[in-house]
Amino acid sequence: MYINGKWLETDKTETIINPATKEETGVVFVGGEKEAEEAIQAAQHAFKSWSALSGNERGKILINVAKELVNKQNEIAETITKEMGKPITDARREVTSAAAYLEWYGEEAKRVYGEVLPALDTKKQLMVLRQPIGVVGAITPWNFPVSMITRKLGPALAAGCTGVLKPAPSTPMCAMEVFKCFESGGLPAGVANLVVGEAEAIGKEMTSNPIVKKITFTGSTNVGKLLMRNAAEHVQKVSMELGGHAPFIVFEDADLDDAASSVIGTKFRNSGQTCISTNRIYVHASIKNEFSERLAKKVRELKVGNGMEKDTDMGPLVNLSALEKVEDQVKKATEAGATVVTGGTRLDNEEGYFYAPTVLVDTTDAMSIAKEETFGPVAPIFTFNTEEEVVERANDTQYGLMGYCFTNDLSRGMRMMHQLDYGMVGINDPAPVAPHAPFGGVKESGIGREGGTIGLHEFMEEKFVSIRTSTNLF
Ligand code: NAP
Repeated sequence: MYINGKWLETDKTETIINPATKEETGVVFVGGEKEAEEAIQAAQHAFKSWSALSGNERGKILINVAKELVNKQNEIAETITKEMGKPITDARREVTSAAAYLEWYGEEAKRVYGEVLPALDTKKQLMVLRQPIGVVGAITPWNFPVSMITRKLGPALAAGCTGVLKPAPSTPMCAMEVFKCFESGGLPAGVANLVVGEAEAIGKEMTSNPIVKKITFTGSTNVGKLLMRNAAEHVQKVSMELGGHAPFIVFEDADLDDAASSVIGTKFRNSGQTCISTNRIYVHASIKNEFSERLAKKVRELKVGNGMEKDTDMGPLVNLSALEKVEDQVKKATEAGATVVTGGTRLDNEEGYFYAPTVLVDTTDAMSIAKEETFGPVAPIFTFNTEEEVVERANDTQYGLMGYCFTNDLSRGMRMMHQLDYGMVGINDPAPVAPHAPFGGVKESGIGREGGTIGLHEFMEEKFVSIRTSTNLF
């Protein structure tokens, strides 16, 4: 617990398990409602002085924190790998990305502009001011346990807000590493507070305490809906980054090798445990065999193992229930007629929660894998015949986070860009994410955006001011 600039202990602890070895990674103190309440009070107290700083001054501190993260990149990356399993090279990349968000928002803090509006009455001056919203409650998942924190607290702190973070219970040590950087980077006491512990109690305090003006959450759609219901009590603002079910469409004119490599990046990175992971691969019927063979060949080359070994491409799943969910989806799909091209089993020769990278063909839209988020290393291939048909099927989901499309026809790519009902679309691009670009979903994938100027404005209120004077102004 890091509250009001002090590291606190409680009388309750939790053991963190390494999903690659099932060995203990560490032991952390856990809290609940009481600690959340203390942290909210500390954030409220700090809000007055933090929001009174200039954007330049706040930005300099955030940029310092970004440098601290980069300096400790290896150490933090090891904690990521030992807590949630991703390969160490990916973990290092995550730390770089986390620092990039802080740096970008540190720069952007000095560019919070208001607006001057044309008045109907020439004696009036009309303005819009942008002011920080207040104390923020942030809740993050385990799959990007470092960068999720800076994507939320970066813009919030840049805007002049203060906040309380609840990290996922499987990755609290990563959050502690980030907060050590806040401390050594010179963030004043109380501006960012960390409460590790029981989700329901902390979440309830965040949504029931009227001091908290905004909830920013990344996680599953079900928990997001619950938080939105609770946030309605005090009409708190919300930003919700929720689940996804990304379609990956491969047209017959695409560069098939590039498309297959891009599936590796979007499906097997982080063992398929990302919100923008490919969930449904739609391949034109005329290239089904060629594409599935190319993809299966690349999948068989992936080295699965402990993320601490430097040539590992794919680590374990985060825990046993994640492993069982993937196993269950594959079982249901094969029982309903899907064929396993490669993989399709747990890797029992490994100690941890490993599932073989898997490619399925003969999958249909009726299978659960076509509808429920997989969050695992399983690539189901569906076939289509026409562009119109694939757009309809790709959009036939309650999710709307990321859609990918591979084609060498520019006009077709542009039609897809308009017609795919997703918050983000990658045309021939498997990694369309950047700190200055808005990240977020439509439909049940969420509300609000992280990244870019829009992400900063999510933590600000617009105040309209009209000044009436005694003379004509122009
Ligand atoms: P989750 O179960 O919803 O948990 C996310 C966070 O919410 C955890 O810290 C969790 O703590 C907490 N939480 C659970 N119940 C809560 C409650 N009643 N009140 C307050 N907090 C509560 O999601 P997950 O399985 O960890 O993460 C995977 C999900 O996140 C996937 O659906 C994925 O698509 C989504 N995701 C979305 C994005 C995006 O940007 N759209 C990015 C990454 C992940 P406990 O674990 O203690 O319950």
